[in-house]
Amino acid sequence: MPKTSSRLVACPQCGKKSPWNPENPWRPFCSERCKTIDLAAWANESYRVPQQGGGDEIPDSENGFGEGDERPVS
Ligand SMILES: [Zn+2]
Repeated sequence: MPKTSSRLVACPQCGKKSPWNPENPWRPFCSERCKTIDLAAWANESYRVPQQGGGDEIPDSENGFGEGDERPVS
């Protein structure tokens, strides 16, 4: 095989072939722009994760067994 110092990889953002080597700080992206776009997309995804509450969504007063000691097992 021919010895190549840089092989081409497809940019995950735009699909453009760009060299994968230490001189390309944006790899596997082709440019800073594509990397920024991808990171922004990731940030948006993380923002969309629904924040779950503390888990105490059922008020005790609603089941009629407020103290909990006499709660029927069945
Ligand atoms: Zn790109």
